[in-house]
Amino acid sequence: MPHVTNDGAGPAPSPDRPLRVAVIGAGPAGIYAADALTRQDAVPVAVDLVDRLPTPFGLVRHGIAPDHPKMRAIRDTLYRSLDHPLVRFVGNVDVGRDLSLEELRRHVDAVIYTYGASVDRRLGIDGENLPGSLAATDLVAWYCGHPDADRERVEDAVRHARSVVVVGVGNVALDVARVLARAPEELDPTEMPQHVLDALAASPVEEITVLGRRGPAQAAFTTQELRELGELAGATVLVDPKDLELEPDAEERAAADRVVARNLAAMRDWIDHVPEPGRPTLTLRFFSRPARLIGSDRVEAVEIERTAVDGDGRAVGTGELEVLPADLVIRSVGYRGVSLPGLPVDERTGTVPNEGGRALRDGAPSPGEYVAGWIKRGPTGVVGTNKHDARETVAHLLADATDGTLRVGGPVDDLVQTLVARGAEPVLLDDWRAIDAAEVALGATRGRARTTLHEWDSLLAAVRAAAASAG
Ligand code: NAP
Repeated sequence: MPHVTNDGAGPAPSPDRPLRVAVIGAGPAGIYAADALTRQDAVPVAVDLVDRLPTPFGLVRHGIAPDHPKMRAIRDTLYRSLDHPLVRFVGNVDVGRDLSLEELRRHVDAVIYTYGASVDRRLGIDGENLPGSLAATDLVAWYCGHPDADRERVEDAVRHARSVVVVGVGNVALDVARVLARAPEELDPTEMPQHVLDALAASPVEEITVLGRRGPAQAAFTTQELRELGELAGATVLVDPKDLELEPDAEERAAADRVVARNLAAMRDWIDHVPEPGRPTLTLRFFSRPARLIGSDRVEAVEIERTAVDGDGRAVGTGELEVLPADLVIRSVGYRGVSLPGLPVDERTGTVPNEGGRALRDGAPSPGEYVAGWIKRGPTGVVGTNKHDARETVAHLLADATDGTLRVGGPVDDLVQTLVARGAEPVLLDDWRAIDAAEVALGATRGRARTTLHEWDSLLAAVRAAAASAG
């Protein structure tokens, strides 16, 4: 579908007047998009990689569990893409607050939205708003040191958490269950802020139950993450052997799917496990969905309904109810993207409508607007999935620039100058390096490689201190 030009009919991009692209969201999708833009020389480009936070890396920093340091190390690869002469990281900029999307668009020829899916999906059951009921996103933000984490609410919940129920059997559910089950010495070397380590060490967790509304063959987690549960130093993993007994045809289908077959094999290795006195348990329980959360002032229990999986693979209730004691219930049932002011999302999917990354407005490609990552395709896949995804989007953007449907507009103001003139405090890559150094220095005070700065004030103080000492 041909696009119209940005402003009618500008010239083709040139080294003197490159195609100016703003990428909104400096997580993996945004960084991979910037990388794809700078790895070609057919279309001269200049990229502003804008983020609301003063730090880049999105869910690599504030999503991947800190007890997975090898996975978090992808940050070093992403950093190399950021540290490119044609890419400018512009953090601490809230599009909608510091400048409107419309104003931003006057500074660039094209925008790629890569701001992810930040909001939790809800269960829609009674009791979900009681204290002691959290979204996995709340807990993850807190233990990763996100500056917007609701410390008070999460720490209150963690302090009471003797019996924990996690709803959902995806990788995020396993992350939160595993982090809560870890022995303090397993978490101590991580980048978690000290108050998080202290709160987790003091939490009274005795039992964690992870609930799958369908069977073990339909679980969304991956085998590596599953197997890790069996290696926890401080907890015993349990599974009900009956949940693992499949009908012959289901067993045949399961055997044909490598991930499912490996998952089942991993869980079958645990069927002889028994609880040990004084040692926390982590139980995987399938064919169970929460019907309501029970409690007056805070969560005390979850009523669960036994389910069966129908011929279409859906969970159907059997009417058989059971009450499970719980002081903390964590729903981990997926994420949802929300709109930026001025950019509608499809409420049903939580994504920006698009065709291969070309953003659609009223069903038609919107000139100069593109999407990549979770806000494009929904909250699926691993970090690397975003590479292919961003490349597809950028290929379409470059095709539009090459065939003349996307042209450069007139002279544009510099985004950073505009922001500074408005009193905003954009954080550039050098400023991030100051934050990085402050985190490494903070970690060193306790013999760790790094400790995450978790407050807006401390993040920006690191930037200001470095600027002041640079004169
Ligand atoms: P997910 O993989 O989509 O899992 C969501 C889980 O919630 C599924 O088990 C789903 O069950 C369940 N669920 C949904 N609605 C429910 C409801 N109303 N009641 C009960 N259960 C419900 O999502 P995620 O765990 O948030 O992960 C998001 C993405 O990040 C995934 O691609 C994941 O692999 C990735 N990730 C990867 C890692 C890693 O590689 N280590 C770590 C974290 C996240 P149904 O299947 O029955 O719908």
